[in-house]
Amino acid sequence: MSLMRYLSTSSSTSSNFMVIFIITHMISTIGTTTKPPSTMNNILLPPTISTKLRTDPEAIKPASQDYGNIVNRNPIAVLYPTSVSDIATLTKFVYNNNVNSQTKLYVAAKGCGHSVRGQAMVGVSGSGVVVEMMSLRRWCGGGGGVVVDGRGFFADVSGEQMWIDVLHATLAHGLSPVSWTDYLHITVGGTLSNAGISGQTFRFGPQISNVYELDVVTGKGNLVTCSKRNNSELFYAVLGGLGQFGIITRARITLEPAPKRVKWVRLLYNDFSSFTRDQELLIAFNGREESNALDYLEGSLITNQGSLNNWRSSFFPKSHFKQITSLIKQHDILYSLEVAKNYDDHTIATVDKELNELLKGLSYVPGFKFGKDVSYVEFLDRVHNQELKLQSQGLWEVHHPWLNLFIPKSRIIDFDLGVFKGILLKRNITTGPVLVYPMNRNKWDDRMSAIIPDEETFYTVGFLHSSGFNYQDYDDQNKEILSFCDKNGIRVKQYLPHYTNKENWIKHFGSKWKNFLESKEKFDPEMILSPGQRIFQ
Ligand code: FAD
Repeated sequence: MSLMRYLSTSSSTSSNFMVIFIITHMISTIGTTTKPPSTMNNILLPPTISTKLRTDPEAIKPASQDYGNIVNRNPIAVLYPTSVSDIATLTKFVYNNNVNSQTKLYVAAKGCGHSVRGQAMVGVSGSGVVVEMMSLRRWCGGGGGVVVDGRGFFADVSGEQMWIDVLHATLAHGLSPVSWTDYLHITVGGTLSNAGISGQTFRFGPQISNVYELDVVTGKGNLVTCSKRNNSELFYAVLGGLGQFGIITRARITLEPAPKRVKWVRLLYNDFSSFTRDQELLIAFNGREESNALDYLEGSLITNQGSLNNWRSSFFPKSHFKQITSLIKQHDILYSLEVAKNYDDHTIATVDKELNELLKGLSYVPGFKFGKDVSYVEFLDRVHNQELKLQSQGLWEVHHPWLNLFIPKSRIIDFDLGVFKGILLKRNITTGPVLVYPMNRNKWDDRMSAIIPDEETFYTVGFLHSSGFNYQDYDDQNKEILSFCDKNGIRVKQYLPHYTNKENWIKHFGSKWKNFLESKEKFDPEMILSPGQRIFQ
C-alpha cells in the first residue's frame, strides 16, 4: 500500500481519519525513534492494544525477515500481544478499517518465522501489522501454555507454543503427542497452518489429523471455538489453511502414553526401486493400534554433493565414513532408509527382537545397517542439537531456498530418474539434506485445507538447501525440477507452498479452490489474514 494512495482514497469519516492519523504517525516514527508511539496510540487505537504496538527498528527488523533469508518486507507496526483478546481487538480494528476504507490493512500472525518465503510477513512493505505470537509465551509463563487433561487424552495448547514446550509439558505427565515435525522449535499455530509432517505421519497422520478442537480469531476479529462437530467448516478450513481463515490461539491435541527411549536405525541402499519398495512395505503395516509397528519412517539421499552427517542429524559414525564414501563413489547416489521404534520399561526386553522382525528381508546393502539407542527427547529434538552447532559457526542464518514437494507414488521412479539422477547430478551444486519418504492418504482428512496428491500413497521430497552467498543456483534448480515435473505430467503438489501468481494457486488447490474461496469469504471477507502467503493479496 502506498501511504499517499491511502490518504487520497480514504473517506473523511472520523474513524478513517483516526486510522490515517495512526498510520501516518506510525510510519513517521519508523527508524527515527525507539520509543513506541504510545501517546498517539492511546488516543487513537483501542487503549488495550495501543501500548503493545511497536514501530521501532528492533521490532520491525525481526518481523520483516524469516528463516529463508530471501524475502524482506517491513510491516507498519508489530503487535506484542499479552492476551488473545489483544489479537482479536487488532483484527477487529483492521477489519473495520477495511470495511470503511478502500485502502486495505493486513494482519500477519508470526510464530517463529521459520517460513522460507515471507509467509509470516506482510504481503507488501508498509501494508499491515505483524503479530508476534511468541510474545504471548511470556504471559502464560513459557510452558504454562500447555494444559494436560486430567484423564490424559489431550492437551490444550496455546497457538504460540513451540512443539518442544509441548513435549516437555506433556512428558511431565508421562504423555506425548503422537505426530511431530523433524524440528520442534516452531509453533503449534505455524505447523497446523501447513500440516506438520515427519516420520510418524505414515502411522498417525500429519499433526492436523491429531487435533480435536481449536480456538481461532477470525478475520472479523471474532474468537470462535471449532471442532468436527462445532463450527466444523471453520475447523476444517483452518487446518492446513495457510493462516487464511483465522489465527489459532488454542489447539486441543491428541496424547498417548510417552515412551522412554528409541531404537533408531539407518539402512543404506544403492538402488532406488528397492529403497522405495521397502519403504512402502514398511508403511503398509501401519495401524496406529498395532503396538509392534514402526513408530517412525523417513528416508534421504546421500551424494557426494553434501556431507554424510548434516544439520538434520548426525548419525553415521566416523569410523564408517570411508566405507560409505567408497559406496557413494561407485553409485553416485545412495538412499538412506531411516526408521525408529520406541520402547519403555515394559518393552525393553522385546524391542530388539520386534525391530529385527520388522526389518527382516529388506534389500539394503549388506553390512550397511547403522543403529543408535537414544532417549525419546534426544530423538525428537535431534535437529536442534545440530542447529546449536551451526549457530555457533554462524551457519544457521544463511539463505534457505527450500523446495518441498508431494509426489504420487506412481511417478516416484520417474522423479528419481529425472531429478535425483538427472537434474541433481548434472547441476552438481552442494546440496543440503534431501528427504524422501512415503505416507498414506487415508491418514489425512480431505475436508481439511491441506493439499496432497490424489493417489493413496504419495511421497514427500524435501530439498533443504542452505547457501551462504548466492542462492540463485538453487532457485534455478528448483525451477528446473518443477518444470521437469510439469513437462512430464508428474502431478506434484508443493508443501509449504509459495507461488507468485494466482493462476498457480488455483492450480495448486485444484478441486478444493472453490471451497477455499468460499471459506475465505465467510471467515476473512476483508482478506486481512496471513497476507505473506500472497494468495489473495
Ligand atoms: P511462521 O513461519 O511464523 O508462520 C507460518 C505461517 O503460519 C504464516 O503464514 C503465518 O502467518 C501463519 N501462522 C503463524 N502462527 C499462526 C497461528 N497461530 N494461527 C494461524 N496462522 C499462523 N515442517 C514440517 O511439516 N515438517 C518438518 O519436519 C519440518 N521441519 C522443519 C525444519 C526446520 C529447520 C524449519 C526451519 C522448518 C521446518 N518445517 C517443517 C516447516 C515448518 O513447519 C513451517 O515453516 C512452519 O510454518 C513454521 O512454524 P513457525 O511457527 O515458524 O511459523
